[in-house]
Amino acid sequence: MKVYIVGAGPGDPDLITVKGLKILQEADVVIYADSLVSEELVNRSKPEAEVLKSAGMTLEEMVDIMEARVREGKMVARVHTGDPSMYGAILEQMVLLKKRGIKFEIIPGVSSVFASAAALQAELTVPDLTQTVILTRAEGRTPVPEREKLKDLASHHCTVALYLSATLVKKVVQSFYDAGWEPDTPVGVVYRASWPDQKIIRTTLENLEQDLRDNGIRSQAMILAGHALDPRLVDSEDFRSKLYDPTFTHQFRKGV
Ligand code: SAH
Repeated sequence: MKVYIVGAGPGDPDLITVKGLKILQEADVVIYADSLVSEELVNRSKPEAEVLKSAGMTLEEMVDIMEARVREGKMVARVHTGDPSMYGAILEQMVLLKKRGIKFEIIPGVSSVFASAAALQAELTVPDLTQTVILTRAEGRTPVPEREKLKDLASHHCTVALYLSATLVKKVVQSFYDAGWEPDTPVGVVYRASWPDQKIIRTTLENLEQDLRDNGIRSQAMILAGHALDPRLVDSEDFRSKLYDPTFTHQFRKGV
């Protein structure tokens, strides 16, 4: 038996992977972050499963439970919001589990960055505009390494996705300006992407702070910035990929 570290997806219970759902339905023990994983999803675990909320536990308490249950021959699902690899604090769990000789497996999930791109109906990598997405966060109480300062990352003028940053927009906007971004650069913000109370805000760098304040958004929001978020792109024919270009030859099709 082992511990499954499962990505629950961004909120909508149908956005867990098929594999993740199967594990959740089979697990004897389910541990989840109550504020961010939907109850409806957790309720899909089997009726006799032991369901525990992680919010009140310390890391050691949580790993003690995981270890004890696995040693009893039980299957444990540790359910994380979005994809576990993004700001999931799973490394510290894996370090302790490994030290104690408990096996684990990670099942990926739909990160909020992708649920937010879907809500905004955006392609984050638009041909001839940008081919790169930077996933990062603003520096708050948790420090960001010096060589990853937002100003430096933003100097690439690619798409930038900001987790955990809704209360730090003043700093965020300044960093983009310091990197030479124009005040009218498009920004999309999605609050609680894929939840019933999802909110979508299309704005610009200069209006970002005001628009978040007007909408009372201080947490659970994904900020996506860059020209790929321009809502006018969907009405333009300038950004065709080579893949479906009639004149372009590739492995599966001969160009004309
Ligand atoms: N592992 C998660 C991220 C956890 S950190 C993932 O892959 O999505 C928590 C941050 O993720 C929040 O501050 C917010 O920026 C973002 N987030 C999580 N769920 C979200 C959602 N449904 N909509 C928008 N942003 C979300």
